[in-house]
Amino acid sequence: MPKDRPNILFIMSDDHASHAMSCYGSRINRTPNLDRIADEGMRFDNCFCTNSICTPSRAAILTGTYNHVNGVTTLSTHMDNTLPTFVKDLQASGYQTGIFGKWHLGQGPAHEPTGFDDWAVLPGQGLYHNPTFIFPTEDGSERRPVKGYVTDLITDMSLDFLRARDAERPFFLMCHHKAPHRHWEPDEKHADMYLNEDIPEPETLYDDYANRASAAEAAEMRMGVHMQPLDIKTEIPHELPEMELRKWAYQRYIKDYLRVVASIDDNVGRLLDYLDDEGLSENTVVVYTSDQGFFLGDHGWYDKRFMYEESLRMPYIMRYPRGIRAGSVNDDMILNVDFAPTYLGLAGLPAQEAMQGRSFEPLLRGETPADWRDRMYYRYWMHKTHHNVYAHYGIRTMRHKLIYYYADALGSEGSIDESYAPEWELFDLEADPYELKNIVDDPANVDLVAELKAELHRLQAEVGDERYHLDVD
Ligand code: CA
Repeated sequence: MPKDRPNILFIMSDDHASHAMSCYGSRINRTPNLDRIADEGMRFDNCFCTNSICTPSRAAILTGTYNHVNGVTTLSTHMDNTLPTFVKDLQASGYQTGIFGKWHLGQGPAHEPTGFDDWAVLPGQGLYHNPTFIFPTEDGSERRPVKGYVTDLITDMSLDFLRARDAERPFFLMCHHKAPHRHWEPDEKHADMYLNEDIPEPETLYDDYANRASAAEAAEMRMGVHMQPLDIKTEIPHELPEMELRKWAYQRYIKDYLRVVASIDDNVGRLLDYLDDEGLSENTVVVYTSDQGFFLGDHGWYDKRFMYEESLRMPYIMRYPRGIRAGSVNDDMILNVDFAPTYLGLAGLPAQEAMQGRSFEPLLRGETPADWRDRMYYRYWMHKTHHNVYAHYGIRTMRHKLIYYYADALGSEGSIDESYAPEWELFDLEADPYELKNIVDDPANVDLVAELKAELHRLQAEVGDERYHLDVD
């Protein structure tokens, strides 16, 4: 093994959209500690998930494979913990490995974390206040409640892991925050932020879903309309006309979301300070990302799932003074399945044969390989479950997005078995960045649609996924 391999600190939050990070130009909040990572490292502007939902994205990250390959297509299909992951390779090569916080890949002996020297994870989504954690024991695991606020506790556990480590060996640490996942519960320290101000509204808060496939209007994740009192800590005035209700609910929702994000930012600062104090910053790769994006009132919604930009896009910032020039920005397309081969590469290890992502180490050096991807494949399986979002797959290029709502559960676990007529959507992301006008039926786009469909099917075959039986073009 090469000596002096880098440490890797991988910080991942849950449902943190990049448009709520000031290093990504947020209009609604400041995240000074996350900005430190971007300012001293690289910001990726086109990082996408291959399936915008918690459990599947986590499985894609760990295994470097798409969900039809790793079997984790929905929230109900838990990951088989005997699958190969990049963390197991790091551990086998001498890295000290740990994970603290959200796991969400299943519980019990077949699904709990493997490949980690130490861990403590939340059962399922976990709680914000005084959460129960699952800890490893000699013959399995046990649950114990821990007093405190979840984001602080996960950081405390991460710091304890770092303090207890063997300084002679490199570490790989996953600090996985529950925040800012629903239902947003700020801690006391941040509860009074934004009290006497209005947060700017997104451009598409009052979207009426005209000119879109029927999936957009059918989705049940509108501000106020589909929220529970728990989401905004008060009864919801459903008697208000919908657009007034959206306006009212947005302010309540987004303030709690941003308060919860502020706590993440503070706690990321604690980890960065520790690295500085211990002289570890030079040789430690620090990543901050989230398992997918999120609608922050965009299209009138909360939640994710759709292939639309706000949900598809993952924040991804990375600092590594020895390998990344400070203040750099990259707009090449990277995917969650690329993380595994990249971290293996940084540790001097080969990617596993079965991994489908590609290491983006050259991008860190400022070099984009001539054959780097300029299009990606996406699929959401969880037909209708939770928020009535229809199952779909699609392709995104640097300019266009073609989505096929096949709208069928296909008998898959974690989906609702009720199918609809499939529909297509095409967006020109340059002319229509908010994806408000479906142009798939415009006669001027006949050739473009044919070309994109062919590319979609080519990508689908390339990653080994199957086309829906009514997708015949
Ligand atoms: Ca998530």
